[in-house]
Amino acid sequence: MIADLHEKFNVLLQNEGDHECEGIGKDKVCVRVVAMAEMPTRFGEFHIIAFENNRDGKEHVAIIKGDVIGAKDVPVRLHSECLTGDALGSLRCDCRDQLEASLRMIAGMERGMVLYLRQEGRGIGLTNKIRAYSLQDQGLDTVEANHALGFRDDERDYAVAAHMLMSLKIESVRLITNNPKKIQQLIDYGIDVSDRVPHIMEPNEYNRFYLETKAAKSGHMIDFHGKEHLPEQSDRPFIKGMSVAPVGMWDD
Ligand SMILES: [Zn+2]
Ligand SMILES: [Zn+2]
Repeated sequence: MIADLHEKFNVLLQNEGDHECEGIGKDKVCVRVVAMAEMPTRFGEFHIIAFENNRDGKEHVAIIKGDVIGAKDVPVRLHSECLTGDALGSLRCDCRDQLEASLRMIAGMERGMVLYLRQEGRGIGLTNKIRAYSLQDQGLDTVEANHALGFRDDERDYAVAAHMLMSLKIESVRLITNNPKKIQQLIDYGIDVSDRVPHIMEPNEYNRFYLETKAAKSGHMIDFHGKEHLPEQSDRPFIKGMSVAPVGMWDD
């Protein structure tokens, strides 16, 4: 089984290694598969596949459970990189909780994957995200801070994700999300989204209060200055055991 999977990956790597196409989205982004390996994690056994793109040299990864190549109805989670949250445990956002919840969920499935997208800080990059945090420390809200730096509220784009799914020959996806707009973007880029799987987070004793507070406030955090912070991931949290507003009532 694992040997079959490796063979499939090797064929993909050979066929896709010098891939080029006209690109997807307004930036005509094209990605290619460049490396893959086994990746055991604290959440379960995965494979990791690296992609590079033709625009900005950013490397994206797919963290894969089971045999997804050419499969239908593959559960997929799109996660936008957040160094401060994912790696450093920052509490300015809940990115790490969302990432861990999705890896744990997919580890328990027959197949599925997380696409880890290098669009830090709602797409404005790490340094600018920290600049925006600094402006928020001075009393601006997230939107005002982004505008002060010359960015839109949200610069995220899922063209790279759509191309990664095509590179992996995924026939259709069950998108793990609470955000209908994310589904629409993928469909607009030509992906067959056969279903939506709600992203329900299981709180632990350390983050329960934080997550429940965030969910109760429809995903917006209020900072020390009484200003709103918008979530860095495009999904509002659903917390297990908690009743929350139905999908569609949210504005991002
Ligand atoms: Zn391409
Ligand atoms: Zn974050």
